[in-house]
Amino acid sequence: MVYKVLITGGSRGIGKAVYELYSKKGYDVVAPGRKEMDLEDIDSIKGFVEKNREFDIVINNAGNNDIMNIDNLSEESTMSMIMTNLVSPIVLTGGLVSHMKSRRFGRIVNIGSIWGTVSKPGRVVYSATKSGIHGVTKTLAVELAPWNILVNTISPGYTLTDLTVKNNSEEQLMAIKADIPLGRLAETCEIAKAVFFVGNEDNTYITGQDILVDGGFSVQ
Ligand code: NDP
Repeated sequence: MVYKVLITGGSRGIGKAVYELYSKKGYDVVAPGRKEMDLEDIDSIKGFVEKNREFDIVINNAGNNDIMNIDNLSEESTMSMIMTNLVSPIVLTGGLVSHMKSRRFGRIVNIGSIWGTVSKPGRVVYSATKSGIHGVTKTLAVELAPWNILVNTISPGYTLTDLTVKNNSEEQLMAIKADIPLGRLAETCEIAKAVFFVGNEDNTYITGQDILVDGGFSVQ
């Protein structure tokens, strides 16, 4: 039996590593680009779901992080982050669970962030969305458990992707490394391994959890 996997934001960064890992392990993986499903547009999400409902494993990965202080918020960035990081996983998952229920099998992995647990100036909207997505995980873990649908959050720490480079200068990256107990940023494949761990059929009992993959950053 080949399970069918949907991953959002599979074109780059963590999503690409997740796409590659599931593909290497023989899963049938679909990673729609923005043109096929724009996560800031509910009609676009619904349009995709109408044509593609039959996924066994869903990885809600796509996200963005614009750093801004509370007194200098861009309305556009605020709405974009709330839509991409929080609303779209809810709408998308909502459209896909009936297939999982009918099969009495499903694995859903939401990509959170350490900034859902701890925070830092400038992350007011981002942290809100990432705390929120774990709230989604917890509710769905309870609501969907009777159908053997397991739902977890994987929360990366600093990971080497375009997003991290966009938000941190070279100097800041050096300082960040020095502040991580393991002394380096995560590689995307290290986050992908954690996603796969909870997001495949061998995980039969972990649900509703938020696993921080951060080199020990948040427990100092
Ligand atoms: P990247 O910026 O490298 O990639 C983001 C991905 O999301 C791209 O594939 C992008 O598509 C897609 N995407 C963004 N907005 C939309 C949209 N509106 N519609 C469709 N696709 C969209 O991000 P990362 O790999 O760094 O991050 C992935 C996830 O991990 C995010 O949820 C992020 O918040 C989280 N995370 C990342 C951390 C890090 O250090 N990098 C730390 C903690 C959490 P396109 O190529 O078209 O732009």
